[in-house]
Amino acid sequence: MESIEKLGDLTGKTALVRCDLNVPLNEKGEITDDRRIRESVPTIKDLLSRGAKVIVTAHLGRPGGKADPAFSLAPVAQRLSGLLGTPVILAKDAAGEDSKKLAKDLKPGEVLLLENIRFRPEEASKDEEERMKLAKDLASMADLFVFDGFGVAHRKHASSYDVSKLLPSYMGFLVAKEEKALSRALEDPARPYTVVMGGAKVSDKLKVIVHLLDVADRILVAGGMAYTFIKASGGQIGQSLVELDMLDEARECMRIAKEKGVEFLLPKDLVAADAFSNDASSKIVDAYKVPENMMGMDVGPKTCEEFAAKIADSKTVFWNGPLGVFEFPKFAKGTRFIAQAMKKATENGAFTIIGGGDSAAAVDAFGFKDGDFSHISTGGGASLEFLKGEGLPALEGK
Ligand code: AMP
Repeated sequence: MESIEKLGDLTGKTALVRCDLNVPLNEKGEITDDRRIRESVPTIKDLLSRGAKVIVTAHLGRPGGKADPAFSLAPVAQRLSGLLGTPVILAKDAAGEDSKKLAKDLKPGEVLLLENIRFRPEEASKDEEERMKLAKDLASMADLFVFDGFGVAHRKHASSYDVSKLLPSYMGFLVAKEEKALSRALEDPARPYTVVMGGAKVSDKLKVIVHLLDVADRILVAGGMAYTFIKASGGQIGQSLVELDMLDEARECMRIAKEKGVEFLLPKDLVAADAFSNDASSKIVDAYKVPENMMGMDVGPKTCEEFAAKIADSKTVFWNGPLGVFEFPKFAKGTRFIAQAMKKATENGAFTIIGGGDSAAAVDAFGFKDGDFSHISTGGGASLEFLKGEGLPALEGK
C-alpha cells in the first residue's frame, strides 16, 4: 500500500478512512485514554488540507453485530472534533441510509463519522460475500480508501480488508509510523534484542513467542501467562492462572529456545495473594513454590531486578502485556518497574517498543509520556502479528 503522501489535490473527492478509535471508556461512558483518537488526527487533517471530504469508519468494543447505544461512537465524535478543531457529524448508522444521505451532502473540509461499524454483523463475518456487501456500502460513499486503523490491521474485516479491494487504497500516517517502528524490531534489530511478554493468555501469544525465537536474543515471560510455563517446568503454582491444554506446547517452546540458544527467562519470585482482589493479603514467594491456597498476582523484587538488568543491557526491547494484575494498584509494581526500566533503556539509546493493548494502557495510567519510549504501538494483537513476519491482511492493498 502506498502512503497518502503520494496523493495530490483532492478537491471534490471523498476519502473513506478506516481509523482505530477503539478507546477505553469508564462506567460513565467517558474516554479514559484517547491515544488512538489522537494518533488518528494527522491523517484526517492531511486529507482535509488536500480539499477532501472525509468519512471516517471505526469500531468501539464488541457490540456483537447489532446496534447497542452503550457502544455508540458519540463520545469519540466529540473528542475527535475537539482534537481536529472541526465539527464532526455522527451518522445514526454504520454505512446505512443515514450515512449515505449525510455522505452525499458532505462539503469539502467536513468530517462525517459513521456509527460503530461492528453494529453490522457483516463487518466481522467469516463469509467473504457477506463482508463484501458491507464493503460495497462503504465504498459507494467514497472515491478513495485510506487505511489508518493499525489496531485492526491483522483482521480480515469488511471496513479494513474487503473495502480496500474496491477503491484505490492508501496507507495513513499512523499505519506508516507503526510499520516503520515495528519493522526495525523485525528486520534488523540492534542487539541484544530482548522481548518481554506478559498478559494473561498463553494460547494467544505462544505462536508469536515461537516465531520470535528466530530473531530475539532473550525472551522474558511474566504475567498470568508465566504460570503455564512454570507448571510445565515442574513448579507448583497454587491457584494461579494456567492453561492446562498448553503445557506441552509451552514445554516445546522452551525446548526450541534452548536449541536455538535464546535466553528464556521466567519469574524467580512472585507476589502471591489469597484472592483475586486489591484487598487480598499477599506475600513474596518462590515462583516455583506458590502455596496451594494462593495465586501469583505480580512479579517479585528479584524478578524485577533481573528483568530490568536484561532490559538495561539491550539495544532493542519489545514489550507486550502487563507483568501482573496492574489494574489493582497493589499488584502494579512489577509492570511499573519494567516500564521504568524501558524508559531508562530509551534514555541510554536503546530502541524500545511498547506493544499496544494493556501495556500501552498501563504506561499511560502510570503517567509516562510518549517520548519516554521509542514507540508506543496502538495495536496489541496487530503488533504481535506483525512481528511474526507474515504480513497483515489490511496492508495488502488493491
Ligand atoms: P492480555 O490481554 O493477554 O495481554 O492480558 C492482559 C491481562 O492480563 C490484564 O488484564 C492483567 O490483569 C492480566 N494479568 C497479568 N498478570 C496476571 C496474573 N498474574 N494473574 C492473572 N491475570 C494477570
